[in-house]
Amino acid sequence: MKTFYIETFGCQMNAHDSEKVIGTLIGQGYSQVGTAEEAELVFYNTCSIRDKAEQKVFHRLQQFKKEHGRGKTFAVLGCVAQQEGERIFEKAPHVSLVCGSASYNQLPAMLVQLETGNRRVTGLSLDTEDTFDTPLTRRDNPHRAYITIIEGCDKSCAYCVVPFTRGPERSRTSASVLAEARTLADAGYSEIQLLGQNVNSYRDPSPAGRDFAMLLDNVGRVAGIRRVRFTTSHPRDFRKSIIDAIDSNPALCNHVHLPVQSGSSRVLDAMQRLYTREEYMRRIEWMKAARRPIAITTDVIVGFPGETEADFEATLALLDEVEYDSIFSFKYSRRPNTPALALDDQIPEEEKSRRLTILQEKQRAIQIRRNGAYVGAVEECMVEGFNTATGQWIGRTSQNKTLNFLRPDSSLVSGEDLRGRYVDVRVTRAGPNSLAGECIQ
Ligand code: SAM
Ligand code: SF4
Repeated sequence: MKTFYIETFGCQMNAHDSEKVIGTLIGQGYSQVGTAEEAELVFYNTCSIRDKAEQKVFHRLQQFKKEHGRGKTFAVLGCVAQQEGERIFEKAPHVSLVCGSASYNQLPAMLVQLETGNRRVTGLSLDTEDTFDTPLTRRDNPHRAYITIIEGCDKSCAYCVVPFTRGPERSRTSASVLAEARTLADAGYSEIQLLGQNVNSYRDPSPAGRDFAMLLDNVGRVAGIRRVRFTTSHPRDFRKSIIDAIDSNPALCNHVHLPVQSGSSRVLDAMQRLYTREEYMRRIEWMKAARRPIAITTDVIVGFPGETEADFEATLALLDEVEYDSIFSFKYSRRPNTPALALDDQIPEEEKSRRLTILQEKQRAIQIRRNGAYVGAVEECMVEGFNTATGQWIGRTSQNKTLNFLRPDSSLVSGEDLRGRYVDVRVTRAGPNSLAGECIQ
Protein backbone atom coordinates (compact mmCIF):
# COMPACT_ATOMS: atom_id res chain seq x y z
CA MET A 1 0.00 0.00 0.00
CA LYS A 2 1.33 3.48 -0.94
CA THR A 3 1.20 5.98 1.93
CA PHE A 4 0.78 9.77 1.92
CA TYR A 5 0.80 12.61 4.40
CA ILE A 6 -0.72 16.03 3.71
CA GLU A 7 -0.26 19.31 5.55
CA THR A 8 -2.55 22.22 4.73
CA PHE A 9 -1.75 25.92 5.09
CA GLY A 10 -4.14 28.86 4.73
CA CYS A 11 -7.84 29.38 4.27
CA GLN A 12 -10.97 27.19 4.44
CA MET A 13 -10.87 26.91 0.68
CA ASN A 14 -7.48 25.18 0.97
CA ALA A 15 -8.71 23.02 3.85
CA HIS A 16 -11.59 21.83 1.70
CA ASP A 17 -9.38 21.36 -1.38
CA SER A 18 -7.25 19.07 0.78
CA GLU A 19 -10.34 17.05 1.74
CA LYS A 20 -10.99 16.54 -1.97
CA VAL A 21 -7.32 15.74 -2.71
CA ILE A 22 -7.31 13.18 0.13
CA GLY A 23 -10.42 11.53 -1.32
CA THR A 24 -8.80 11.45 -4.77
CA LEU A 25 -5.60 9.87 -3.40
CA ILE A 26 -7.53 7.24 -1.46
CA GLY A 27 -9.46 6.52 -4.68
CA GLN A 28 -6.09 5.89 -6.36
CA GLY A 29 -5.13 3.26 -3.78
CA TYR A 30 -3.09 5.44 -1.39
CA SER A 31 -3.56 5.40 2.37
CA GLN A 32 -3.22 8.44 4.60
CA VAL A 33 -0.81 8.49 7.55
CA GLY A 34 -0.54 10.99 10.40
CA THR A 35 3.07 12.18 10.04
CA ALA A 36 5.45 13.08 7.23
CA GLU A 37 8.00 10.64 8.71
CA GLU A 38 5.70 7.65 8.08
CA ALA A 39 4.73 8.64 4.53
CA GLU A 40 6.20 7.74 1.15
CA LEU A 41 4.53 10.72 -0.51
CA VAL A 42 4.42 14.08 1.33
CA PHE A 43 2.03 16.83 0.16
CA TYR A 44 2.03 20.46 1.19
CA ASN A 45 -1.12 22.32 0.21
CA THR A 46 0.16 25.87 0.34
CA CYS A 47 -0.93 29.48 0.82
CA SER A 48 0.75 32.59 -0.58
CA ILE A 49 -1.73 35.26 0.49
CA ARG A 50 0.94 36.90 2.67
CA ASP A 51 4.72 36.57 2.66
CA LYS A 52 4.72 34.85 6.07
CA ALA A 53 2.46 32.05 4.83
CA GLU A 54 4.72 31.46 1.84
CA GLN A 55 7.89 31.40 3.96
CA LYS A 56 6.35 28.73 6.20
CA VAL A 57 6.07 26.40 3.21
CA PHE A 58 9.71 26.77 2.16
CA HIS A 59 10.76 26.35 5.79
CA ARG A 60 8.81 23.06 5.96
CA LEU A 61 10.36 21.87 2.71
CA GLN A 62 13.85 22.60 4.06
CA GLN A 63 13.09 20.70 7.26
CA PHE A 64 12.45 17.52 5.29
CA LYS A 65 15.10 17.94 2.60
CA LYS A 66 17.29 15.06 3.78
CA GLU A 67 14.28 12.70 3.75
CA HIS A 68 14.36 12.71 -0.05
CA GLY A 69 17.51 10.58 0.09
CA ARG A 70 15.47 8.08 2.12
CA GLY A 71 13.04 7.50 -0.71
CA LYS A 72 10.35 10.05 0.07
CA THR A 73 8.61 11.97 -2.69
CA PHE A 74 7.51 15.59 -2.10
CA ALA A 75 4.65 17.45 -3.74
CA VAL A 76 3.71 21.14 -3.50
CA LEU A 77 0.06 21.97 -4.19
CA GLY A 78 -1.99 25.18 -4.07
CA CYS A 79 -1.15 28.86 -4.29
CA VAL A 80 2.65 28.75 -3.79
CA ALA A 81 2.82 25.96 -6.40
CA GLN A 82 0.91 28.08 -8.91
CA GLN A 83 2.80 31.28 -8.10
CA GLU A 84 6.33 29.85 -8.12
CA GLY A 85 5.77 27.10 -10.71
CA GLU A 86 8.90 25.33 -11.90
CA ARG A 87 11.09 27.69 -9.80
CA ILE A 88 10.16 25.41 -6.88
CA PHE A 89 12.29 22.65 -8.44
CA GLU A 90 15.27 25.05 -8.29
CA LYS A 91 14.59 26.24 -4.74
CA ALA A 92 13.77 22.76 -3.45
CA PRO A 93 15.20 20.14 -5.84
CA HIS A 94 13.78 17.30 -3.74
CA VAL A 95 10.23 18.28 -4.85
CA SER A 96 8.81 16.10 -7.64
CA LEU A 97 5.28 17.45 -8.16
CA VAL A 98 4.12 21.08 -8.40
CA CYS A 99 0.40 21.54 -8.96
CA GLY A 100 -1.94 24.55 -8.67
CA SER A 101 -5.59 24.21 -7.64
CA ALA A 102 -6.88 24.72 -11.21
CA SER A 103 -5.18 21.42 -12.19
CA TYR A 104 -6.37 19.15 -9.36
CA ASN A 105 -8.62 17.28 -11.81
CA GLN A 106 -5.43 15.94 -13.37
CA LEU A 107 -3.98 14.61 -10.10
CA PRO A 108 -4.69 10.92 -10.85
CA ALA A 109 -2.72 11.15 -14.13
CA MET A 110 0.09 13.05 -12.39
CA LEU A 111 0.32 10.36 -9.70
CA VAL A 112 0.79 7.77 -12.43
CA GLN A 113 3.65 9.86 -13.85
CA LEU A 114 5.27 9.98 -10.40
CA GLU A 115 4.86 6.24 -9.96
CA THR A 116 6.59 5.61 -13.27
CA GLY A 117 9.63 7.53 -12.02
CA ASN A 118 9.04 11.02 -13.47
CA ARG A 119 10.75 13.47 -11.07
CA ARG A 120 9.45 16.73 -12.54
CA VAL A 121 5.66 16.60 -12.80
CA THR A 122 3.70 19.86 -13.12
CA GLY A 123 0.07 20.97 -13.30
CA LEU A 124 0.19 24.74 -13.76
CA SER A 125 -2.33 25.69 -16.42
CA LEU A 126 -4.90 28.31 -15.38
CA ASP A 127 -6.71 28.00 -18.67
CA THR A 128 -9.65 25.97 -17.46
CA GLU A 129 -13.41 26.17 -17.23
CA ASP A 130 -13.56 23.16 -14.91
CA THR A 131 -14.17 23.03 -11.20
CA PHE A 132 -12.67 20.32 -8.99
CA ASP A 133 -15.67 18.17 -8.08
CA THR A 134 -15.25 14.70 -6.69
CA PRO A 135 -17.60 12.32 -4.92
CA LEU A 136 -14.55 10.99 -3.05
CA THR A 137 -14.14 13.95 -0.65
CA ARG A 138 -12.78 12.76 2.71
CA ARG A 139 -14.36 15.19 5.19
CA ASP A 140 -12.73 15.85 8.57
CA ASN A 141 -15.78 17.04 10.49
CA PRO A 142 -18.75 14.64 10.79
CA HIS A 143 -21.34 17.40 11.29
CA ARG A 144 -20.28 20.47 9.26
CA ALA A 145 -19.32 20.12 5.60
CA TYR A 146 -17.84 22.56 3.12
CA ILE A 147 -19.10 22.79 -0.45
CA THR A 148 -17.18 24.82 -3.04
CA ILE A 149 -19.68 26.66 -5.26
CA ILE A 150 -17.29 28.90 -7.20
CA GLU A 151 -13.56 28.72 -7.84
CA GLY A 152 -11.08 31.42 -8.86
CA CYS A 153 -11.60 35.18 -8.85
CA ASP A 154 -12.23 37.77 -11.58
CA LYS A 155 -11.56 40.81 -9.38
CA SER A 156 -8.16 42.48 -9.37
CA CYS A 157 -7.66 43.89 -5.90
CA ALA A 158 -4.27 45.59 -6.07
CA TYR A 159 -2.74 43.67 -3.15
CA CYS A 160 -4.03 40.17 -3.89
CA VAL A 161 -2.37 37.11 -5.45
CA VAL A 162 -5.55 35.01 -5.67
CA PRO A 163 -6.43 35.88 -9.30
CA PHE A 164 -2.90 34.71 -10.24
CA THR A 165 -2.97 31.55 -8.15
CA ARG A 166 -6.54 30.32 -8.50
CA GLY A 167 -7.36 31.47 -12.00
CA PRO A 168 -10.60 32.86 -13.45
CA GLU A 169 -14.04 32.42 -11.86
CA ARG A 170 -15.81 29.12 -12.51
CA SER A 171 -19.20 28.38 -10.94
CA ARG A 172 -20.53 24.88 -10.42
CA THR A 173 -24.04 24.07 -11.60
CA SER A 174 -26.71 24.58 -8.94
CA ALA A 175 -27.86 21.00 -9.60
CA SER A 176 -24.48 19.57 -8.59
CA VAL A 177 -24.28 21.82 -5.50
CA LEU A 178 -27.80 20.81 -4.41
CA ALA A 179 -27.13 17.13 -5.10
CA GLU A 180 -24.02 17.33 -2.90
CA ALA A 181 -26.03 19.06 -0.15
CA ARG A 182 -28.67 16.30 -0.27
CA THR A 183 -26.01 13.58 -0.13
CA LEU A 184 -24.44 15.30 2.87
CA ALA A 185 -27.79 15.62 4.65
CA ASP A 186 -28.46 11.91 4.04
CA ALA A 187 -25.03 11.13 5.51
CA GLY A 188 -25.98 12.98 8.71
CA TYR A 189 -24.42 16.41 8.16
CA SER A 190 -26.61 19.22 9.49
CA GLU A 191 -24.44 22.26 8.68
CA ILE A 192 -23.14 23.33 5.30
CA GLN A 193 -20.70 26.08 4.52
CA LEU A 194 -20.68 27.33 0.93
CA LEU A 195 -17.23 28.40 -0.21
CA GLY A 196 -15.74 30.67 -2.83
CA GLN A 197 -13.33 33.61 -3.06
CA ASN A 198 -16.35 35.69 -4.00
CA VAL A 199 -19.55 33.67 -3.51
CA ASN A 200 -21.66 36.69 -4.49
CA SER A 201 -20.57 36.49 -8.09
CA TYR A 202 -21.88 32.91 -8.30
CA ARG A 203 -23.72 32.40 -11.60
CA ASP A 204 -25.34 29.05 -12.29
CA PRO A 205 -23.89 27.93 -15.64
CA SER A 206 -26.93 25.70 -16.28
CA PRO A 207 -30.28 26.88 -17.69
CA ALA A 208 -31.69 27.00 -14.11
CA GLY A 209 -29.72 30.27 -13.90
CA ARG A 210 -29.78 30.65 -10.12
CA ASP A 211 -27.88 33.56 -8.59
CA PHE A 212 -26.16 33.27 -5.20
CA ALA A 213 -29.17 34.32 -3.08
CA MET A 214 -31.36 31.72 -4.81
CA LEU A 215 -28.75 28.98 -4.40
CA LEU A 216 -28.28 29.88 -0.73
CA ASP A 217 -32.03 29.71 -0.12
CA ASN A 218 -32.29 26.38 -1.99
CA VAL A 219 -29.46 24.81 0.04
CA GLY A 220 -31.22 26.01 3.21
CA ARG A 221 -34.34 24.11 2.12
CA VAL A 222 -32.61 20.74 1.80
CA ALA A 223 -34.28 18.40 4.29
CA GLY A 224 -31.99 17.69 7.26
CA ILE A 225 -29.82 20.80 6.82
CA ARG A 226 -30.25 23.04 9.88
CA ARG A 227 -27.53 25.60 9.27
CA VAL A 228 -26.03 27.15 6.15
CA ARG A 229 -23.09 29.56 6.19
CA PHE A 230 -21.14 31.15 3.34
CA THR A 231 -17.80 32.79 2.81
CA THR A 232 -16.43 35.03 1.36
CA SER A 233 -18.52 37.92 0.12
CA HIS A 234 -17.31 40.83 -1.96
CA PRO A 235 -19.16 44.09 -1.12
CA ARG A 236 -19.43 45.14 -4.76
CA ASP A 237 -21.45 42.01 -5.63
CA PHE A 238 -23.35 41.70 -2.34
CA ARG A 239 -27.09 42.03 -3.06
CA LYS A 240 -29.96 42.86 -0.73
CA SER A 241 -31.60 39.61 -1.86
CA ILE A 242 -29.07 37.75 0.36
CA ILE A 243 -30.39 39.55 3.43
CA ASP A 244 -33.97 38.88 2.32
CA ALA A 245 -33.10 35.17 2.03
CA ILE A 246 -31.61 35.17 5.56
CA ASP A 247 -34.71 36.92 6.89
CA SER A 248 -37.07 34.40 5.34
CA ASN A 249 -35.19 31.11 5.68
CA PRO A 250 -34.42 30.00 9.28
CA ALA A 251 -31.72 27.54 8.15
CA LEU A 252 -29.51 30.40 6.94
CA CYS A 253 -27.23 31.51 9.77
CA ASN A 254 -27.36 34.99 11.32
CA HIS A 255 -23.92 35.89 10.09
CA VAL A 256 -22.35 37.74 7.17
CA HIS A 257 -18.60 38.09 6.64
CA LEU A 258 -18.15 41.18 4.47
CA PRO A 259 -14.47 42.14 4.04
CA VAL A 260 -14.06 45.93 3.97
CA GLN A 261 -10.20 46.16 3.90
CA SER A 262 -10.18 49.92 4.63
CA GLY A 263 -12.52 52.63 5.90
CA SER A 264 -11.05 55.23 3.55
CA SER A 265 -12.60 55.58 0.08
CA ARG A 266 -9.27 56.92 -1.17
CA VAL A 267 -7.45 53.74 -0.08
CA LEU A 268 -10.31 51.54 -1.35
CA ASP A 269 -9.85 53.18 -4.73
CA ALA A 270 -6.09 52.54 -4.66
CA MET A 271 -6.82 48.95 -3.66
CA GLN A 272 -9.12 48.64 -6.72
CA ARG A 273 -11.90 47.33 -4.48
CA LEU A 274 -14.66 48.82 -6.69
CA TYR A 275 -16.74 50.36 -3.87
CA THR A 276 -16.63 53.42 -1.66
CA ARG A 277 -17.04 53.55 2.08
CA GLU A 278 -20.58 54.86 1.56
CA GLU A 279 -21.50 51.97 -0.74
CA TYR A 280 -20.11 49.53 1.80
CA MET A 281 -22.12 51.17 4.58
CA ARG A 282 -25.31 50.79 2.54
CA ARG A 283 -24.82 47.01 2.72
CA ILE A 284 -24.23 47.23 6.47
CA GLU A 285 -27.49 49.19 6.79
CA TRP A 286 -29.37 46.36 5.01
CA MET A 287 -28.00 43.94 7.59
CA LYS A 288 -28.80 46.18 10.54
CA ALA A 289 -32.34 46.68 9.24
CA ALA A 290 -32.92 42.92 8.92
CA ARG A 291 -35.53 41.22 11.10
CA ARG A 292 -32.92 38.78 12.37
CA PRO A 293 -29.90 39.92 14.43
CA ILE A 294 -27.14 39.40 11.87
CA ALA A 295 -23.58 39.20 13.21
CA ILE A 296 -21.19 41.10 10.94
CA THR A 297 -17.49 40.28 10.58
CA THR A 298 -14.81 41.63 8.26
CA ASP A 299 -11.19 41.63 7.05
CA VAL A 300 -9.01 44.76 7.35
CA ILE A 301 -5.59 45.49 5.88
CA VAL A 302 -3.47 48.19 7.54
CA GLY A 303 -0.49 49.91 5.95
CA PHE A 304 -1.48 49.64 2.29
CA PRO A 305 0.96 51.83 0.28
CA GLY A 306 0.11 55.49 0.75
CA GLU A 307 -2.25 54.92 3.70
CA THR A 308 -2.05 58.17 5.69
CA GLU A 309 -2.82 58.67 9.35
CA ALA A 310 -6.16 60.19 8.26
CA ASP A 311 -6.97 57.11 6.15
CA PHE A 312 -6.16 54.89 9.12
CA GLU A 313 -8.35 57.05 11.39
CA ALA A 314 -11.18 56.53 8.89
CA THR A 315 -10.78 52.76 9.31
CA LEU A 316 -10.88 53.13 13.10
CA ALA A 317 -14.03 55.24 12.81
CA LEU A 318 -15.60 52.59 10.58
CA LEU A 319 -15.06 49.97 13.30
CA ASP A 320 -16.98 52.20 15.71
CA GLU A 321 -19.71 52.84 13.17
CA VAL A 322 -20.29 49.20 12.20
CA GLU A 323 -19.46 47.59 15.56
CA TYR A 324 -18.26 44.31 14.04
CA ASP A 325 -18.67 41.08 15.97
CA SER A 326 -15.12 40.18 15.03
CA ILE A 327 -12.46 41.05 12.49
CA PHE A 328 -9.44 39.46 10.82
CA SER A 329 -6.76 42.13 10.54
CA PHE A 330 -3.51 42.03 8.62
CA LYS A 331 -0.48 44.14 7.87
CA TYR A 332 -0.21 44.75 4.13
CA SER A 333 2.24 42.26 2.61
CA ARG A 334 3.84 42.85 -0.82
CA ARG A 335 2.93 40.03 -3.18
CA PRO A 336 4.48 39.04 -6.51
CA ASN A 337 2.66 40.01 -9.72
CA THR A 338 0.17 42.27 -7.92
CA PRO A 339 -0.48 45.87 -9.11
CA ALA A 340 0.32 47.30 -5.64
CA LEU A 341 3.95 46.15 -5.98
CA ALA A 342 4.56 49.11 -8.27
CA LEU A 343 3.15 51.66 -5.81
CA ASP A 344 5.54 54.08 -4.12
CA ASP A 345 5.08 55.13 -0.56
CA GLN A 346 5.35 51.78 1.16
CA ILE A 347 4.59 52.07 4.88
CA PRO A 348 7.46 51.04 7.22
CA GLU A 349 6.97 47.71 9.02
CA GLU A 350 7.02 49.34 12.51
CA GLU A 351 4.30 51.75 11.46
CA LYS A 352 2.16 48.89 10.12
CA SER A 353 2.65 47.07 13.43
CA ARG A 354 1.67 50.18 15.38
CA ARG A 355 -1.53 50.61 13.36
CA LEU A 356 -2.39 46.93 13.66
CA THR A 357 -2.05 47.06 17.46
CA ILE A 358 -4.25 50.16 17.73
CA LEU A 359 -6.86 48.60 15.43
CA GLN A 360 -6.93 45.33 17.35
CA GLU A 361 -7.20 47.10 20.71
CA LYS A 362 -10.15 49.13 19.48
CA GLN A 363 -11.86 46.03 18.13
CA ARG A 364 -11.23 44.14 21.38
CA ALA A 365 -13.13 46.82 23.31
CA ILE A 366 -15.98 46.63 20.77
CA GLN A 367 -16.16 42.84 21.14
CA ILE A 368 -16.21 43.03 24.95
CA ARG A 369 -19.13 45.45 24.67
CA ARG A 370 -21.02 43.48 22.03
CA ASN A 371 -20.53 40.06 23.60
CA GLY A 372 -21.53 41.49 27.01
CA ALA A 373 -24.98 42.23 25.57
CA TYR A 374 -25.57 38.46 25.20
CA VAL A 375 -25.42 37.78 28.96
CA GLY A 376 -28.84 36.46 29.99
CA ALA A 377 -29.82 35.47 26.43
CA VAL A 378 -30.60 31.90 25.37
CA GLU A 379 -28.73 30.84 22.24
CA GLU A 380 -29.03 27.67 20.21
CA CYS A 381 -25.62 25.99 19.82
CA MET A 382 -24.32 23.29 17.59
CA VAL A 383 -22.02 21.29 19.85
CA GLU A 384 -18.56 20.99 18.29
CA GLY A 385 -16.44 19.39 21.00
CA PHE A 386 -15.61 18.83 24.64
CA ASN A 387 -12.75 20.49 26.50
CA THR A 388 -11.42 17.91 28.93
CA ALA A 389 -9.25 20.54 30.67
CA THR A 390 -12.22 22.75 31.63
CA GLY A 391 -15.00 20.14 31.59
CA GLN A 392 -16.94 22.40 29.22
CA TRP A 393 -18.69 21.62 25.98
CA ILE A 394 -17.76 23.84 23.02
CA GLY A 395 -20.70 25.13 21.01
CA ARG A 396 -21.19 27.55 18.15
CA THR A 397 -24.14 29.91 17.81
CA SER A 398 -25.88 30.80 14.58
CA GLN A 399 -23.97 34.09 14.75
CA ASN A 400 -20.72 32.08 14.63
CA LYS A 401 -19.78 32.85 18.24
CA THR A 402 -18.04 30.23 20.36
CA LEU A 403 -20.19 29.45 23.40
CA ASN A 404 -18.55 27.19 26.01
CA PHE A 405 -21.01 25.65 28.40
CA LEU A 406 -21.47 23.31 31.32
CA ARG A 407 -24.09 20.64 31.54
CA PRO A 408 -23.89 19.54 35.16
CA ASP A 409 -25.64 16.20 34.72
CA SER A 410 -23.53 14.94 31.86
CA SER A 411 -20.04 14.97 30.45
CA LEU A 412 -18.14 13.09 27.82
CA VAL A 413 -16.83 10.94 30.66
CA SER A 414 -20.32 9.89 31.77
CA GLY A 415 -20.99 8.64 28.26
CA GLU A 416 -23.36 11.16 26.69
CA ASP A 417 -21.72 12.63 23.63
CA LEU A 418 -23.38 15.89 22.64
CA ARG A 419 -21.19 16.54 19.59
CA GLY A 420 -23.26 17.37 16.53
CA ARG A 421 -26.38 18.02 18.67
CA TYR A 422 -28.24 21.33 18.91
CA VAL A 423 -28.82 22.55 22.46
CA ASP A 424 -30.13 25.73 24.08
CA VAL A 425 -27.62 27.51 26.29
CA ARG A 426 -28.17 30.46 28.62
CA VAL A 427 -25.23 32.89 28.36
CA THR A 428 -23.84 33.72 31.81
CA ARG A 429 -20.49 35.32 30.97
CA ALA A 430 -18.87 37.06 28.02
CA GLY A 431 -15.28 37.71 26.99
CA PRO A 432 -13.86 39.44 23.91
CA ASN A 433 -13.59 36.22 21.91
CA SER A 434 -16.18 33.85 23.33
CA LEU A 435 -19.25 33.43 25.49
CA ALA A 436 -19.82 31.03 28.38
CA GLY A 437 -23.03 29.62 29.76
CA GLU A 438 -25.17 26.75 30.99
CA CYS A 439 -27.18 24.31 28.98
CA ILE A 440 -30.88 24.63 29.80
CA GLN A 441 -32.13 21.54 27.96
N1 SAM B 1 -11.74 36.67 -1.50
C1 SAM B 1 -11.81 37.19 -0.23
C2 SAM B 1 -12.10 38.68 -0.29
O1 SAM B 1 -12.27 39.26 -1.30
O2 SAM B 1 -12.18 39.28 0.75
C3 SAM B 1 -10.66 36.83 0.66
C4 SAM B 1 -9.31 36.70 0.08
S1 SAM B 1 -7.98 36.46 1.17
C5 SAM B 1 -7.84 34.75 1.26
C6 SAM B 1 -8.48 36.86 2.78
C7 SAM B 1 -7.98 38.19 3.26
O3 SAM B 1 -6.57 38.26 3.24
C8 SAM B 1 -8.40 39.38 2.45
O4 SAM B 1 -9.72 39.75 2.70
C9 SAM B 1 -7.43 40.43 2.87
O5 SAM B 1 -7.86 41.11 4.02
C10 SAM B 1 -6.20 39.61 3.24
N2 SAM B 1 -5.13 39.82 2.25
C11 SAM B 1 -5.13 39.46 0.95
N3 SAM B 1 -3.98 39.84 0.35
C12 SAM B 1 -3.24 40.45 1.30
C13 SAM B 1 -1.96 41.09 1.31
N4 SAM B 1 -1.22 41.18 0.22
N5 SAM B 1 -1.52 41.62 2.48
C14 SAM B 1 -2.25 41.54 3.60
N6 SAM B 1 -3.47 40.96 3.66
C15 SAM B 1 -3.96 40.43 2.52
FE1 SF4 C 1 -8.34 38.67 -3.78
FE2 SF4 C 1 -10.00 40.70 -4.24
FE3 SF4 C 1 -10.41 38.32 -5.42
FE4 SF4 C 1 -10.81 38.58 -2.79
S1 SF4 C 1 -11.95 39.64 -4.43
S2 SF4 C 1 -9.71 36.94 -3.81
S3 SF4 C 1 -9.23 40.04 -2.20
S4 SF4 C 1 -8.69 39.70 -5.78
